[in-house]
Amino acid sequence: MNDTVKTNLLDFDRDGLREFFSRLGENPYRADQVMKWIYHRLENDFERMTDLGKSLRAKLDEVCYVGPPNTLVEKGSTDGTHKWLLGMNGGNAIETVYIPEPTRGTLCVSSQVGCGLNCTFCSTATQGFNRNLSTAEIIGQVWVAAKYLGNVPHQQRRISNVVMMGMGEPLMNFDNVVAAMNLMRDDLGFGLASKRVTLSTSGLVPQIDKLSEVADVSLAVSLHAATDELRTTLVPLNKRYPIKQLLEACRRYVRDRPRATITFEYTLMKGINDQPEQARRLVKLMRTLPSKVNLIPFNPFPGTQYERSDPETIARFKQILNEGGVLAMVRRTRGDDIDAACGQLKGQVLDRTRRSAEFRKRVEEATHAA
Ligand code: SAH
Repeated sequence: MNDTVKTNLLDFDRDGLREFFSRLGENPYRADQVMKWIYHRLENDFERMTDLGKSLRAKLDEVCYVGPPNTLVEKGSTDGTHKWLLGMNGGNAIETVYIPEPTRGTLCVSSQVGCGLNCTFCSTATQGFNRNLSTAEIIGQVWVAAKYLGNVPHQQRRISNVVMMGMGEPLMNFDNVVAAMNLMRDDLGFGLASKRVTLSTSGLVPQIDKLSEVADVSLAVSLHAATDELRTTLVPLNKRYPIKQLLEACRRYVRDRPRATITFEYTLMKGINDQPEQARRLVKLMRTLPSKVNLIPFNPFPGTQYERSDPETIARFKQILNEGGVLAMVRRTRGDDIDAACGQLKGQVLDRTRRSAEFRKRVEEATHAA
């Protein structure tokens, strides 16, 4: 049998893998053993999974495989940031970025090939949308980075946080993203604490509610403006889910999570959304729920109409938030020498026109379903 008809075990979270082993006529406990090999020891060759019997190893080899994505290009920045261009089938590629800091290491993971939401200041948007990533392609990004970094869960943990902030809108690929986040948090998977796995969304209200029911992860919301008029020009999805509705969904999300706060991302663009008046409006909104604001100086990319705000303007904006009692941080720009900063991930997205039309239809369906 070749790989195309074999099952990729990275597509299963723990429940899925146990079911798969049951279907093979094996004790589901074997699934737990295999998970430890895959995610703790980063082993993808059944031959080396030595505590499985020889006949089980042979059987697994015949029907399944552990298939992380192929690394096409890998680049290190002078600041320690590392970026992988990973090949997806059909000539597509997505990007994954590792950002080391003194007290933590964050991996920024992609959820789709391209993105269909057309935020006007994001480079991924210029690529159009091709398709959703599979669970294997999402968790596979963590696997590839962990292997490269020598990450060992529970011991030398180089990846302490994962953020679903790479290419794509994670809530548009709901099931696969949730399964992959289950694997990130599972003790037999990468064993990360729930609050260290963050999903960032441009604001799909029904899917925020659905997420709240099925996964206990941190939520980040790409806000970027404090009025609907301005937000709609930056994040077109705002037409469907205006700020008021979005913040109500955020309030519902924290309601059942006593210590949780929502992180609001706010990319600062010169003369667009960086004026003191905007900051004051933002303070009013943020006071209505447990929140903090991540200010991201705009990262330019070829062909963009926007510019980064001046450092003084950024400092003033932050000061107004802080004086208004809002916790706000300026996200340091990392990895911009290798185009790995927020909003600069492009990957390689083929065949996007046809798929974009298909995607718009799916956005319609998904957003009307709830
Ligand atoms: N689609 C999801 C996940 C992407 S997260 C979301 O929108 O939340 C990436 C973050 O970087 C988002 O907050 C996005 O709005 C922001 N971003 C996009 N382009 C940017 C740019 N050019 N400069 C700075 N931040 C940008």
